[in-house]
Amino acid sequence: MDNILPAYDDPLFSILIIIILIIIVSLSSLIVGNYKEKKKKSSLKKFLGGFKKNNAVLNIEEIPFEKALIKPLTLLAQAFKTQGEYQKSINLNLYLIDNISNFYEKEKILEELGETYLKAGFLKRSKLIYLEILNKHPRNKQALYYLGIVYELMHEFDKALEIITPLEILGEKTEKLKAHIELSKLLEEKSFSKSKKVDELTKLLQEKNHPYRRIMKALFALDLNVAWQHIDYEKIDSILDILWFLPSLNLNFDIISNNETLSAIYLAKGELETKELNKKSNIFSIDTIISAKIGGKDNIDLLFNYGCGKCKHHFPIGFTRCPKCYTIDAIQIKETLVQKKSQTSYSLL
Ligand SMILES: [Zn+2]
Repeated sequence: MDNILPAYDDPLFSILIIIILIIIVSLSSLIVGNYKEKKKKSSLKKFLGGFKKNNAVLNIEEIPFEKALIKPLTLLAQAFKTQGEYQKSINLNLYLIDNISNFYEKEKILEELGETYLKAGFLKRSKLIYLEILNKHPRNKQALYYLGIVYELMHEFDKALEIITPLEILGEKTEKLKAHIELSKLLEEKSFSKSKKVDELTKLLQEKNHPYRRIMKALFALDLNVAWQHIDYEKIDSILDILWFLPSLNLNFDIISNNETLSAIYLAKGELETKELNKKSNIFSIDTIISAKIGGKDNIDLLFNYGCGKCKHHFPIGFTRCPKCYTIDAIQIKETLVQKKSQTSYSLL
C-alpha cells in the first residue's frame, strides 16, 4: 500500500486529494441535479393531474404516443381552440404535456393550454399554468403578459401590476399597459367616493398614456358636468358612440353650441332644433345624415360596431381589451348608416 499511495509530504499526494474532491463534488451535483429534475417532473405531473380530462370528449389517451404526433396534434389543438371547441383542445394539450418530458419542448404547448383555459373561462387553471411556466422560465414574456390578463379578468389588479416590472426588465414598453391596469383598479376602487374618483379620473386625463375613451365613458357615468368640460375636440370620433347614445337630458347645450363638430352630431341626431343645416363635423356619417336632412330625408340613424385594430375582428359591443386577441387600446368605432326604426307603440288596452 505504501508503494501505491504517495507519501504525505509528496506533492503528488495533494494533487490526488484535489482529484478525489473534484470527483466527489461532480458526482454529488449530478445526483442532486437528477433528483431535482425528477422532482420537477413529478411535481408538474401532479400539478396537471388536477386538470384531468373529460374523456368522453376525445379518446386520445388510447393512442400510443410517438414524437411524430407532436406537430399534427399541436395544430389540431390550435384548430379546436379557434373553433371554440375548448375541451377537445385542452385534452390534446394535456395528452402532449403528459408524454413530453423536457420542459422546453412542451413550453409552447403549456402556453397554448393556458390560453385555452383563459378563453374557456377557467381563469384559475389558466393562472396556475402560467405560474408553472414562469416558475421554470421566468423570462417568458408571453406567459407574463397572459398572467397579467388573467389577473385583470380576476379583478386582482395589484397582482396584474406586479408583472409590469419583470416586463420592463425584459425591455418591453409597458406605459400603456400600466395606465390601463391602473384605470381598471381606480374604477373598481370601492373605498373612493364618487367625487374622489372623478378627481382621480380628471388627473389621469393629464397623463400621456391615458386611455381617453375609457376615462370619458366613466366620467359621463359619474359626473356629466365634468365630462362635458373635459371633451377633447381632437378625439371626438373616439367617443362618437358614447355621445350619440347620451339621453337628451344629459346633453350640455352650452358646450355643444360652442363647437361645430358637437353641434353637427346633435343636429344629425335630431336633438338640436336649428334652422341652420350648415354644420360640418368632418365625420363622414354625421355629415351624410345632415346632407340627407337638407335633401328632406329625416329617417337615418347610426348603428355602431367595434373593430380591433390588431386582429381586425368586429364585435357588436364595445370592449376595453379585445375579446379575441386581448390587445388594449385597439378599439375602432365603426358606424353604419341605417334607416331609423319607426317606434310604434301598442296599447295594451
Ligand atoms: Zn383583437
